[in-house]
Amino acid sequence: MTIRELIRQSEAMLDEKDKDCNVAKVLFYHLANTEPHQLYLMMDEEVDQDLLKEFQAGMKRYMDGEPIQYVKGKETFFSRDFIVNENVLIPRYETEELVENILYKIDDYFDAYEKIDLCDIGTGSGAIAISLALEEKRLNVVATDISHEALEVAKLNAEALNANVQFFQGDMLAPLIERDMKVDIFVSNPPYIPSQQDIESVVKDNEPHVALFGGQDGLYFYRKIFSQVKTILNKRALLAFEMGFDQRELMQEAVESYFPDTPYEIIKDINGKDRMLFIYYHLKG
Ligand code: SAM
Ligand code: GLN
Repeated sequence: MTIRELIRQSEAMLDEKDKDCNVAKVLFYHLANTEPHQLYLMMDEEVDQDLLKEFQAGMKRYMDGEPIQYVKGKETFFSRDFIVNENVLIPRYETEELVENILYKIDDYFDAYEKIDLCDIGTGSGAIAISLALEEKRLNVVATDISHEALEVAKLNAEALNANVQFFQGDMLAPLIERDMKVDIFVSNPPYIPSQQDIESVVKDNEPHVALFGGQDGLYFYRKIFSQVKTILNKRALLAFEMGFDQRELMQEAVESYFPDTPYEIIKDINGKDRMLFIYYHLKG
């Protein structure tokens, strides 16, 4: 069978089951380690038998409902490949926007700093912590997660990408409080989906629930963080969070109750949805 025949056959199968047809090519590029323009030139070649077996096994996993990122074992985040598996949330595009905005805020508020201490709570694959550490050399980055399995993945990613990040296991801020650590920038993309919310089955059936659900209204972890975070903040500090697109009112209420008189803003993502929260603790004025 030629590559063209294999791709056509697989696309037809995907189409029939109402699945994303691009997956056939995406999986093939990945397994053959080629770029789209190279594949185009190879289309009439015979498919290697080992590659065919791997391709068929991968297609089966995808057809059975696994996200393609877990099948490939990687996802691109901020232009770098991160290892992912069923123990970590697949890093999302929206989260790249959080990273980008944090980098802008560093220019705005920490320009004069030679060293900036930052923590990422609930690091998952390490996507946020590692990207920031690699993009901004003045950052000293600490990342935590409650999941040992997630931290294993994050450590592999830090090693593969040559990022200097310190990892600690533990519940929310506990690892930092225990070590009496202080930070200039606090970052978190905590689980924020309300526990009863109906979500896409590809997410619900595959991604770790410990990474997704944030209590009855989705704000459990934000309130927990807000109530303890001042003990680990330096005098001037930036707090940066990802949040759910429908949580603006509840979030405002929570921020205003734990941080009265502190400036904050909720920023929209590229789709015009409320997505990021920034709190400027003694940073402005
Ligand atoms: N930071 C990653 C990202 O943006 O792709 C993962 C974010 S995921 C939404 C939330 C992460 O918080 C998961 O990795 C989960 O294991 C972790 N987590 C859940 N409960 C936690 C807790 N009590 N303490 C620390 N981390 C927790
Ligand atoms: N954005 C993710 C989703 O909708 C949830 C991430 C989170 O809870 N922080 O699946």
